[in-house]
Amino acid sequence: MKIAIPKEIKNHEYRVALTPSVVRELVARGHRVAVQASAGEGAGFPDTEYEAAGAHIEQDLDALWDNAELIVKVKEPQPEEVKRLKPSHTLFTYLHLAAEESLTRGLMDSEATCIAYETITDDEGGLPLLAPMSRVAGRMAVQAGAHSLEKAQGGAGILIPGVPGVAPAKVTVIGGGVVGENAARMALGLGADVTVLDKSLERLEVLDHRYQGRLNTVYSTADALETAARESDIVVGAVLVPGAQAPKLITRQMLGDMRPGSVLVDVAIDQGGCFETSRATTHADPTYVVDGVVHYCVANMPGAVARTSTQALTNATLPFVLALADKGWQGALAEDPHFLKGLNVHAGHITHPAVAQAFGLDA
Ligand code: NAD
Repeated sequence: MKIAIPKEIKNHEYRVALTPSVVRELVARGHRVAVQASAGEGAGFPDTEYEAAGAHIEQDLDALWDNAELIVKVKEPQPEEVKRLKPSHTLFTYLHLAAEESLTRGLMDSEATCIAYETITDDEGGLPLLAPMSRVAGRMAVQAGAHSLEKAQGGAGILIPGVPGVAPAKVTVIGGGVVGENAARMALGLGADVTVLDKSLERLEVLDHRYQGRLNTVYSTADALETAARESDIVVGAVLVPGAQAPKLITRQMLGDMRPGSVLVDVAIDQGGCFETSRATTHADPTYVVDGVVHYCVANMPGAVARTSTQALTNATLPFVLALADKGWQGALAEDPHFLKGLNVHAGHITHPAVAQAFGLDA
């Protein structure tokens, strides 16, 4: 199979779709991998490492796309990339089509086969190619919160673990899924007093078992949220209601009860945010203050740690990329119903029910 790895062109995207280690696996199976010159630079993988792994470094963008059968990317194709797609191409990347009508139309017009990372499922009902980025964001959330608690950032001037004789910070995580568990784990590691709120008793039970009483689990009610706002130094928003905007769980009014200099980290900002006062920020200017409370609301948190994120993502995509390369899209999707759920667009038609529904069409 002829595989192409373009350099990502979305603003501030530094990840790359395959690491040199993954290229090596593909080349060992007899596949040809062309990597656009400097594609891995932002994630710390120079062209020389790809060459050593057996890739061809391609300077010519036309040749890269025209000669490829399988194109593996990170972000959804940008308009100039959509123009390069043709019916013989298989595209494997994050697509997030339901909110992007013009991209969806462009992919349909290209007649390419487009497989989205984010709709592939697993036996546990999870989304295995979204989870790695949720793990990264969850772990980063506490790092971001700890930094924001410092005086220079507008924070209350609190060190998360405290010191002997001084109590640690209280960290509340709302939503105990992938992001929430990873945030809780980091906060525990730093020595915080950690509470996780969730609407799912099953999820709270799993966390209670897993952490053996080292964190508090609380069922998420309006009362519990008010207490969390009043007593926490950091609140991490990590809820997800699939297919819907995040519910506003901490209201503007509740900010008034929070201690000055406490911190809200809204990881759910990519779904609209779960705090009423959240608005999306960037890594260049990640925080702002409302009523004395510091808000961190970066929508693409994993982008700041492009190297870790690239490695985490490619660990998860590797088996799927190998299957596509070895068996072609027909063979790979035919034998794996979870992988088949990733098929979003094929030969001019939307093939995923949720995406079709978003545009009032039949899949
Ligand atoms: P998940 O499905 O694993 O977990 C979500 C949890 O929220 C579930 O356990 C659910 O029961 C709980 N929940 C739902 N409603 C609740 C409520 N009212 N109160 C308390 N808990 C509630 O999802 P995830 O992978 O952890 O993702 C969480 C959010 O983080 C999503 O919005 C996701 O898009 C976002 N995310 C953002 C970034 C970023 O860079 N900002 C990166 C990755 C993920």
